[in-house]
Amino acid sequence: MQFSQIIGHQETKLLLRKSVQQNHVAHAQLFLGQEGSANLALALAYATYINCESKLPDDSCGTCGSCLKMNKLVHPDFNFVMPVTTTKNVSKEALSQKFLTEWRQFILASPYQGFNDWMQHIGAENKQGNISKEESRQLVKLVSLKAFEGDYKIVLIWLPELMHPAAANALLKLLEEPPVKTLFLLVSQSAEKLLATITSRTQIMQVRSFTEEEVVTHLQQKYGADEATAYQIAQLAEGNLSAAAKLTSEISSDYFSFFLDWMRHCYSHKYGEVIEMSDRFQALGRENQKNFLLYALNLFRKVMLYGVDASLISYLPPAELDFVQKFSKVITEGNAGQLAEELNQAHYHIERNANPKMVFVDSSIQMAGYLRGLI
Ligand SMILES: [Zn+2]
Repeated sequence: MQFSQIIGHQETKLLLRKSVQQNHVAHAQLFLGQEGSANLALALAYATYINCESKLPDDSCGTCGSCLKMNKLVHPDFNFVMPVTTTKNVSKEALSQKFLTEWRQFILASPYQGFNDWMQHIGAENKQGNISKEESRQLVKLVSLKAFEGDYKIVLIWLPELMHPAAANALLKLLEEPPVKTLFLLVSQSAEKLLATITSRTQIMQVRSFTEEEVVTHLQQKYGADEATAYQIAQLAEGNLSAAAKLTSEISSDYFSFFLDWMRHCYSHKYGEVIEMSDRFQALGRENQKNFLLYALNLFRKVMLYGVDASLISYLPPAELDFVQKFSKVITEGNAGQLAEELNQAHYHIERNANPKMVFVDSSIQMAGYLRGLI
């Protein structure tokens, strides 16, 4: 992974490169960010940069012997520890080392995936993985060996919050008495679940979630999504690139046009059209129905924000912006809460397997009343 492959995060990349260029690489660093953020990708790019044999000012070279190995995740001095469990292939003594092939496939497919994706990838079924006591013994053994090729031996620990307490204490001991030329890169989603004594010994790199614009760019570049669809997905993904990628394959219809028609019919009390739309809503299927309602809530939130202060809306495609501007005129302090609650309720009922057609028609009647100030 190279820095240039990660969208945005220029400030963080700069800090990371500087630490290498100025020889201030801390021996233990914590990359902290939510699921679907760039925390793992940045740690990978950083490790690649550290090991690169002909570093450029902005990035690793991508072509030296080390970069080639780093990019395939096969560099002998780059080690991984991640939560695992017993599976069909590994029926006992589940250790990270035994899952390296799966891990490489997983990360090379996308470094933005989460813990559940990983469990699914290794075929954990309903078992929950962790970083076991036995794993920490391996870790101690591993860091006692010298680096094979590079200056440093790098140990990347993914989701250290899932460490067995004994493993966490073994790691703490390693951080207290750091072995020479060994770097620990901890990639975590929740610092509060780590031992405070561990976090206090690390240099913390806060990795923010991706912005909606960054999610849009990623979907356009990687999946060839058109701008309007990419925006609809970005509004649902909450900065999680992996969730955005999944939504790309799930979303089967144009939520915006559907929402626009729905609100128009509600506003003008055209119930014949509402009934016709309820058939289309039913045909979306439950996952899409829920996604649509979440999308509607999100767009609705933008309408309210726009009403408060137009500058709070960073960017929307022209058609959606036009709608938000117009719709913000019929939203009042009185009906805003009611409308949002109605969408929430609809989502709640769909999630609990209520009849989608009935939920849709019922919500439409309620919303029509709120929109015209009749209720
Ligand atoms: Zn290189």
